[in-house]
Parts: sequence; structure tokens; C-alpha cells
Amino acid sequence: AKSGGRGTYVQYEPEMDAHLQAVQQMRVSLRQALANGDLEVHYQPLVDLHTGKITTFEALARWPHPERDQVSPAEFIPVAEETGLIGSLGEWILRQACTEALKWPPHVSVAVNLSPLQFRNQGLAATVGDILEETGLEASRLQLEITESVLLDDCDGNLQILKAIRRLGVKIAIDDFGTGFSSLGYLRTFPFDKIKVDRSFITDLPDGRESLAIVRAVAAIGRSLGIVTTVEGVERQRQFDVIKAEGFDEAQGYLIARPLPAEQATKLAHSAHVE
Ligand code: C2E
Ligand code: CA
Ligand code: CA
Ligand code: CA
Repeated sequence: AKSGGRGTYVQYEPEMDAHLQAVQQMRVSLRQALANGDLEVHYQPLVDLHTGKITTFEALARWPHPERDQVSPAEFIPVAEETGLIGSLGEWILRQACTEALKWPPHVSVAVNLSPLQFRNQGLAATVGDILEETGLEASRLQLEITESVLLDDCDGNLQILKAIRRLGVKIAIDDFGTGFSSLGYLRTFPFDKIKVDRSFITDLPDGRESLAIVRAVAAIGRSLGIVTTVEGVERQRQFDVIKAEGFDEAQGYLIARPLPAEQATKLAHSAHVE
């Protein structure tokens, strides 16, 4: 044990130490990458299932790492969250995404993921407004994707921030829908503009009976509430066909396109159809 101050002892746990050290190290190099402009944003299209046209690109953070192939955002976003870097990282991504979207045809929107921790910034709505003003992107072309944990956390404060963002004219999507405990309840709490069904429900289509029943129910709810319905993670043609037959509005997934570097995405945005 090592001394943790007068009269107290902190149990020395080498494993914990190793984790903290790794997080600290990644924090330092992530901060550097952000400062040096080494981070990138890639864009994955969402297509309208009725017209086949691209409606939206989702912005996804990328970190081309010198010593490793790539660090997944599933790994570095949590580090940014743990170390307080998420605020500046999130703003950077938002600014990049809005700037890129200006190069696309005006009917194409951009979707940006918001971490629940970004809501600790009481001025988040003002920040979003400032970035829209700075870049000149029309508010209606920006969609922000949140998970239900944003509403679960504290949550009246977050709800107020979300309402203020929506008052700017920005669209709000609920991401990873169906994975939480009470996704349905949140549809009553907040007027979401879009539902994105989690990939886990798409993976076992068309054979998974339970997934099919759930996906069908979500499509019906979206229709009756007037909310745009999307699925993520469409990898196979048969999944695409089921989703289309069930009346979803949009689809996203490797079958349509992988997340692309900005330049390629912008080229794709200007070509008439995908597939
Ligand atoms: P997410 O928001 O659910 O994003 C969708 C993830 O699914 C992305 O992974 C995307 O590349 C991947 N994906 C898309 N189509 C398919 C498919 O057909 N099959 C499979 N297997 N995967 C598909 P990615 O880019 O690795 O991001 C992982 C997660 O990291 C995201 O999940 C999101 O939670 C977080 N993330 C990524 N970029 C950002 C960001 O800029 N800000 C924040 N706060 N979080 C981000
Ligand atoms: Ca997302
Ligand atoms: Ca998602
Ligand atoms: Ca997901």
C-alpha cells in the first residue's frame, strides 16, 4: 500500500494503475493530435429508401495513429470523456462537419454525434448556435445524434439544453434506439425528429423473428408520431429489402457505403444516386 495522505492508505492496485496510465498517455497524445490537426472526420451516407438519394452524411471521428493502424472512436471518445477533452474535441468535430456540409447540395444534411458529457457545458446550445453562425450553415441542415443517456442522466438540465438547441432549428435524432431501458418513454419526453434503430436489431434480419417484430413496431411508431425512421448497420441486401418493405424512411450501412474521407464524401454528395 502507498500512503494517500495523512493517516489514510490507498490500496495499491497495479492493474488500476496500468489502466490509468494508459488513459493518461492516450489523453496526452489525443490532445496533441487535436492541436496538431491530426484528427479527421469521415462521413457515411444515409439514403432515402423511396428515392435512393442521399439525405444525410453522419460525421464520424477518425484518428489515424502513427504507431497503430487507427484508433477506433469507440476507444478514444471514452478517453476524451474521462479526461475532459470531449468539450473541445466535440466542438472541433461540429465545426469541421458544418464546414464540410457547405460543400454539399443544399438538400443534404449533416449528422453529428453528441456525447452526454458535452451537456455538462451549460452553454452548449449557445456553442452550437455560434458554430452555425460562424460557418454559415443553415440550422435545418444540422442533425445532432444523442443517446437516451442524455435524458437519463440528471436530466431536467439536459432537457432544457436540448430544447434550446432545437429552438435554433437544429434537428435531434435519438441514436442506438432500442438498446436502453426505456427508449419508448423518451419519445414522450422530447419531440425527436429522427429515430435511428440500433444495428443490433438489424444484424439478425431477416431471420430473427424478435428483431423483425421490434423493427416493425418502431417503423409503425415513427409513422404515427411523424418521426423520420432510420436504421444503421445495413450490410446485406436482404436486410435492406426488409427495412424498405417495413416502411423505414432511410438506411445507413456498409452495403450502401462505408464512412468516407471528406473529399470522397463530397464527391459522392454531388453524384445523383448511390448503389
Ligand atoms: P454510432 O454513433 O452508433 O456510429 C455508427 C457506427 O457504426 C460507426 O462506427 C460506423 O462506422 C459503424 N457502421 C456503419 N455502418 C456499419 C455496418 O454496416 N456494419 C458495421 N458493423 N458497422 C457499421 P465508428 O465510426 O467506429 O464509431 C463508433 C462509435 O463511436 C459511434 O457509434 C459513436 O458512438 C462514437 N463516435 C464516433 N464518432 C464520434 C464523434 O464525432 N463524437 C462522438 N461523441 N462520438 C463519436
Ligand atoms: Ca451515431
Ligand atoms: Ca448509432
Ligand atoms: Ca450503434
